Amino acid sequence: MTSKGKRFPLSLSSVVQQREGNASRFQSSASTQTAMRNIKHAAYWPGSAAKTTMSATGQASQSGGTISADVSRAVLVSDAVRKAMVARVAQQGVKDETVLAALEAVPRHLFLESGLASQAYVDASLPIGHHQTISQPYIVGRMLEILRHGAALDSVLEIGTGCGYQAAVLSLIAKEVYSIERIKALHELAKQNLRPMRIANIRLHYGDGMLGLPQVAPFDGIILAAAGLEIPQALLTQLKVGGRLIAPVGDRRQVLELIERVSHSEWRRTVIEHCHFVPLRSGVV
Ligand code: SAH
Repeated sequence: MTSKGKRFPLSLSSVVQQREGNASRFQSSASTQTAMRNIKHAAYWPGSAAKTTMSATGQASQSGGTISADVSRAVLVSDAVRKAMVARVAQQGVKDETVLAALEAVPRHLFLESGLASQAYVDASLPIGHHQTISQPYIVGRMLEILRHGAALDSVLEIGTGCGYQAAVLSLIAKEVYSIERIKALHELAKQNLRPMRIANIRLHYGDGMLGLPQVAPFDGIILAAAGLEIPQALLTQLKVGGRLIAPVGDRRQVLELIERVSHSEWRRTVIEHCHFVPLRSGVV
């Protein structure tokens, strides 16, 4: 299971250079915790631990050698635990190597508040504020595998950006990712989380995802990260013929549904498995 997937375009050194004006964040009085906060914004690159370590060390050692050692260790540890997380997702039945590589490549801990970062690689959904959650890695893998169906995806629409994690994973398996969030504060959080990663192929929108994005449609794939009682009609019509939509559907008892658009006027529905998601709501807040 190697990280063959596309990588975020930003090397750590460019982040570090960009942050040189902000070097006070790496002052010698900085605690390990401060260093971790800095690395939260600097070390994106999974699988490039050596490079990350060098750059982080170079920067941190300007102000304090012990921090650099802690930071290096933290980066290596997060790479290792992420690999273990992906191995568990694979054990649960996700086989698509492209999806597994994408999960391995995206540092989930960078999408969580620092108090929860240590739990980032547990296979669980976790709070991201505003009564919403970041999806469980297994379900992200499962949904993306079904969405991809072994084929390259051009444009994908995600409903429910949340903290931006799944959008980042999607950016590695689709050419263009559009993601809509209805809670302004979460839309802003996702922007803040994704901005330093400079992922060129994600477009974030603030709005009601139940309406889709008619100006960009049709999409090869549509993925909902929140469960409605039914799949919004607008989304069905914004799917390409041959396209796939994956969504949790239901209230207390929810199932994952796959919708395939088989012709202009025909959609095929397959129930995949039980699941548990936050509710899909209309309007914006
Ligand atoms: N993919 C996200 C998961 C977020 S949880 C992540 O990786 O973090 C689901 C999100 O769907 C919540 O942020 C919620 O606000 C959002 N949501 C619910 N109904 C929505 C709607 N109609 N349009 C857009 N977003 C919606």
